[in-house]
Parts: sequence; C-alpha cells; structure tokens
Amino acid sequence: MVPSGASTGQFEALEMRDGDPKSFAGKSVCKAIDLIHKCIAPVVEGYDIFDQGGIDQAMIALDGTLNKSRLGANGILGVSMACARAAAAEREVPLFELFSDSKPVRIPLPEIQIIGGGAHSAGSIDIQDFMIICLRAGSIMEVYQITFDIYQTMGSILKESNRLVGLADEGGYWPVFTRNEDGIELLVNAIKRAGYQPGIDVGISLDLAASEYFNEGKYQLSLEDSAMAPEDYYQLISSWLQQYPICSVEDPFAERDLSLWKKLTDTFGGQVQIIGDDLFVTNSARLKAGINGKWANSVLIKLNQIGTVTETLQCINIALENGVYPVISARSGETEDPFIAHLAVGTGVGQLKVGSWSRSERMVKWNELIRIERYLKAKQKSIDLASFNWRYEA
Ligand code: PGA
Ligand code: ZN
Repeated sequence: MVPSGASTGQFEALEMRDGDPKSFAGKSVCKAIDLIHKCIAPVVEGYDIFDQGGIDQAMIALDGTLNKSRLGANGILGVSMACARAAAAEREVPLFELFSDSKPVRIPLPEIQIIGGGAHSAGSIDIQDFMIICLRAGSIMEVYQITFDIYQTMGSILKESNRLVGLADEGGYWPVFTRNEDGIELLVNAIKRAGYQPGIDVGISLDLAASEYFNEGKYQLSLEDSAMAPEDYYQLISSWLQQYPICSVEDPFAERDLSLWKKLTDTFGGQVQIIGDDLFVTNSARLKAGINGKWANSVLIKLNQIGTVTETLQCINIALENGVYPVISARSGETEDPFIAHLAVGTGVGQLKVGSWSRSERMVKWNELIRIERYLKAKQKSIDLASFNWRYEA
C-alpha cells in the first residue's frame, strides 16, 4: 500500500496512474503493478533483504530518471516498503526497531488536524489544514485526551452556528467560512472552551499549501476575494503570526517564492516552526539547497514524494545533522497502513502529522503509537513523548 496526495508539489516524484477514463476514472495503477512484476522483480530478486540501500539503489538505477517517471514512484515505493517489512519479519522485530538500529526511540508529538480546507474540501476555504499541537503534554494519552476534547468542541461550535458541511479528506471538519481568519479565531475559541490555554497548553499549526492558490505571481485567496501581491500577502501572514498563538506554519508561500521563505525564516524562525513540504518534497538535493539558503527551519517527510525508504531516511538524516527539524507526514489519500508511525518512532523524529480524530486510515496511525508504547513498556523499556522544539511564546 502506498499513499497519494491531492495537493502535490511540482518537484515530487511521479505517481503512475493508467489515465484510462473507463478504468476507475483514470486512477487505476495496472501499469505500475505490471512494471513491478516484469521489470523490478527480476532485478531485486536474490538481494539480501537487510540490504535496503542496495535494493533501493538497484530500483533507482533501473528507473534511470530523476523523478522515477519510467517505473513510477508508487510502484518503486511499494516494493521498497515491502522489503522493509520483510526484513523486520525475518528479524522477528516490530518495524520501528529496523529504523532505530538500537538508537533511542521516541513517541512523536502528534500534529492533529481540526479543520480541513484547500484541495481537501473542494476549495471551500483556502487554507488547507488548521491543526493543533500540544505544547506541554506529558504522554501520548494526554495528547489524545486534549486534542479529542478540542476536536469535539469544534464540532459543537460549527454545528451551533450552522457552519458544518461534513468531514474533509483528512477527517477534520469541512466548514463554511466567509474569511480564512474565521478558522483561526474559531480554533482559539475551541481551545479555550475545551478548557485549555491557547499558546500555552496548545499551539495552532497551519498548513497553507500556498502553491495551490499562487497564480500568475499573486496569492489569490478566494474567500477574501483578492489577488495579493507577494509583499502584501507576506504582511498578512506575518500579522497572523504576531496576532494568534500560531506555533507552526507549513508551506506559507509557493515553492518558487524563495525570497519570502527566507525572509519569514529570518524574522520568525527563532520562535515558530516553519515547515517546507512542497518546498522540499523529501528530496535531499532540494533540502541541501534549502539548508544553504536558510529557506525554512523544518522539513515535512513523505515517503511517496521521493519514492524509496532509503532516500526518505537519507533526507531525515540530512535534516537532523543540519538542525532542520523533520516532521513525518501522511498524505490526503492515505491507506490503512501504519508504516509511518513506525518510521517516526524508530528514527526518533519528534513529530507526526496524520490528519484528524476520525477515519480509520488516520486512527490506525494514532492507535499504532499506543500499541508501540505498550510493547516497549511490556519489555521494561522506557519511551518518552517528544516535546515541541520551538521556544514558542504566547
Ligand atoms: P497532500 O496533503 O497529501 O494532499 O499533499 C498533505 C499536506 O499538504 O501536507
Ligand atoms: Zn503540506
């Protein structure tokens, strides 16, 4: 099983679909599967299952393109993840132990979506993810209690004011708003009404996925009905960071708008997590360029943006070695596979972004963290919850 994104970055590896309108509306993946059997299998058969690097490199060489367009990153990643699982099974250990290689492990701090917008709710609002991060919870169950309370409270607030349509792609609420800022204000209200202090117990985290509304050199927020020049849009984002308890912001600008990325990181990077998703696309070369250019202080990690387990681990390591904070993430088109929960625990990366408090493809990851914690406790091993990395001041 491999995931799929709706708001993809332009530098992502290629996801191969058949494109035949009569077959699952063009979304079927028969060609990618055929290539696994005919081209990939004969090359990887016979490799030592513990040589993940060798297997992945063989597939990269066989594909021979920069964006895995010959074999499809979805096919390659399916094989790569299956090999990781097979290696863990052969060693008779849970998957996360394969990634930790006896280094200390941690339960990642969840980033939980409360409202979904952008490409995940047919553009009903422009901002894609309104999320929360617990800033001082002591355990994963405490995080779940707090975020569940806030999720439920937001549901009541939206229902009371007739602003609830349903659930968006990642399980957060699909609302009706007249301004994007309504979402931020309601989130502050929901945190308070649930009994927590915004900016002290719980911070707000936004994924703007801004490339989706960057057209012809302008940021076009449909709710505000305005096409903003980059400099004016920068002022809007910077005013939100000053006005609201926002501790993390992802893809605030389009992936090519590097000067704004640098300016925001330079100004707010000391206290706010600034994450590049479409900006870096889990690509080590782009991440290295971003480290040199100081584009952001954090990187979103998605296996299918790059297409192999080895390259994903490489990107995480480059980030960690250079003080850029990695956040492991699901996709909007997610599967029921808890693989990334193990990847986050095993690599010790401190945050996991999976979506909301509903839909089983989300819950399976949150539940897996509980199972991993229990497994380690039963073995008398201690495991801590990661804490939030940035000195966010309310
Ligand atoms: P996507 O959304 O999977 O649609 O890209 C997730 C994200 O942008 O972080
Ligand atoms: Zn994103």
